[in-house]
Amino acid sequence: MDPEELTGILFDIQGFSVHDGPGCRTLIFLKGCPLSCRWCSNPEGKSRSPEPLYRRQKCTMDLLCLDACLHHAINVESDGLSIDRKKCYTCTTFDCMSACCSGAIQQGGYVISVSELYRVIQRDRQYWGSRGGITLTGGEPFFQPEFATAVLKQCHDAFVHTAAETCGDIPQSWLKPSLPYLDWLFFDLKQMDATLHKEWTGHSNHQILENAKWLAQSFHGRMVYRMTVIPGYNDQPEHSLKLARFISSTQRCEINLLPLHHLGREKYALTSRSYYTDSLTTPSLDSLLNMKKIIEKEGVTCYIGSETPF
Ligand code: SF4
Ligand code: SF4
Repeated sequence: MDPEELTGILFDIQGFSVHDGPGCRTLIFLKGCPLSCRWCSNPEGKSRSPEPLYRRQKCTMDLLCLDACLHHAINVESDGLSIDRKKCYTCTTFDCMSACCSGAIQQGGYVISVSELYRVIQRDRQYWGSRGGITLTGGEPFFQPEFATAVLKQCHDAFVHTAAETCGDIPQSWLKPSLPYLDWLFFDLKQMDATLHKEWTGHSNHQILENAKWLAQSFHGRMVYRMTVIPGYNDQPEHSLKLARFISSTQRCEINLLPLHHLGREKYALTSRSYYTDSLTTPSLDSLLNMKKIIEKEGVTCYIGSETPF
């Protein structure tokens, strides 16, 4: 197949980002992620398939969608509708959305070809200035490896700066084909203890740490670690020390600490998921500065939030 006709599934494209690589960038959100981080701010990126997003506030309960859905995925509950999402993952018609006149059901995720996406990238290119480019994120961008590689290659061949953010929990063979076309890589770390990692994300950190070590050696672009700081989970001094020593051992000595936020909370209801992290506070500036101090003592440069040099 012509690589330009390859298709992928996105759930968003955002222009004018200034925090995810050098300059002004277009962020491309790919659907699908192997992890289930409790604090994820993009729950609509978790499933690899397009899915309905249901807004109870807009729903008039006329039940037109219920009749339209051939998969019988919609049920009436006392406080609105519930949707059996397992049935939606194999749905290709999305009749519920066509039937809904109030905009209460909207499509989360859509199929797009490499050439269609590249047209969007070309449109945005005029706004980037000299340093910008694209950043693939998600979800986990390399969960759709062929599509990610084709997009990165097309951009790379056209001298577009390319970056991606990965959770790292994927086979090396999914990442490897993209590496020649990638200028920057943000590599997410969450927790150095394997048990705690599994408890909060659904998977151990084993493959992630192995991939970090492998990429540090084999990726020739700039690699910056990232970690969402969650008070009580990964902000303790002993964890910061362990984290810094691991990073230092890979000789890619940059990390960007991102304070936990709750901006994704509303999206959990739209995708019928429970939000477990309401009770968690965002870290204080003092605690972030304390982490920075411990990390930098080990020779690792630490940026807090959006205060990055890029
Ligand atoms: S996405 Fe498809 S299966 Fe799911 S509720 Fe809508 S029509 Fe039914
Ligand atoms: S068609 Fe739309 S407004 Fe009517 S019940 Fe379904 S979601 Fe609600």
